Amino acid sequence: MTTYPPFGAGLWNFAAYVDRYATDGYDTPRSTLDQIRLAGEVGELSYVDINYPFTPGVTLDDVRAALAAEGLQCIGLTPDIYLRPHAKGAFTNPDPARRASARAIMDGAADAVRALGARYVKIWPGQDGFDYPFQAAYADLSRLAIEGMRDLAQAHPDLKFVIEYKPREPRTHMFWGSAAKTILGIQRMGVDNVGVLLDFGHALFGGESPAESAQLLIDHGLLWGMDVNDNFRGWDDDMMTGSLHWVETLEFFHTLRQNGWEGVWQLDQFPFREESVENAKLSIRFLKAVYRALDLLDESALAAAQANQDALAALRIVQNALFTAGLED
Ligand code: FE
Ligand code: FE
Repeated sequence: MTTYPPFGAGLWNFAAYVDRYATDGYDTPRSTLDQIRLAGEVGELSYVDINYPFTPGVTLDDVRAALAAEGLQCIGLTPDIYLRPHAKGAFTNPDPARRASARAIMDGAADAVRALGARYVKIWPGQDGFDYPFQAAYADLSRLAIEGMRDLAQAHPDLKFVIEYKPREPRTHMFWGSAAKTILGIQRMGVDNVGVLLDFGHALFGGESPAESAQLLIDHGLLWGMDVNDNFRGWDDDMMTGSLHWVETLEFFHTLRQNGWEGVWQLDQFPFREESVENAKLSIRFLKAVYRALDLLDESALAAAQANQDALAALRIVQNALFTAGLED
């Protein structure tokens, strides 16, 4: 019997979605508690990342009880700093009052992380950036982004913060847009409680090799979280892991294993038209196969192939592992 790593999911995997076409939503809205119940139904999850604030009327005690009832733990909270009031940014909003209101949401999330015993506050400043040439003064943008994140981290020295980078969407250019740029920004903060959450799909669609980006972040001591999904590389499609990029997904997890990275394997997916519990189950079925394939990889032969940059030998070894791993159910 294989012992698998702990699996987790962003609670938004179980929410209902709106986009710019189905402005009436793809399903009826679900409360934070409904989403936790669905996450529990998957039966394979140990952790969830929860949006903050919770849906109206849901208290911290409600969330704590719902998590306990489903046998789930909160890995982190994601403050909603990218909604309408912060459409021009959270940290980099030109209006100081908007920056303050975003900060208040993040301070609230920090308190909730303490109360729930979670590992981090996850910062996804989706509206921080710009859309048009000449729209933003880049020096101001980076000053506000870096100083704001530093102030937040220094106000909560007992907590960890992770920045999830992404190249674009909703802005055409997000400030925290790549692994390298995020490392440089964190170095300029000069704090030790800010790291990175690497989203496999964001790296893919940003033109990165997710495995290489993982190594870069690990080399800088900054890979504190990750989530997986899949996309066609032209957009953050947030499809099921294993639907497209099998080899790159295996390479990503191989890099984590080589470095002794032990963390939660998290899902960040948006099943607009798929049933969310089944979507998560099928994703974890694939991740388990990936995990078994890692056990089957002929590491010494792979190292020898890589020492010669012998792509054919390396891919033969990878194919052997991937297609021998098989499925459990
Ligand atoms: Fe993500
Ligand atoms: Fe994403």
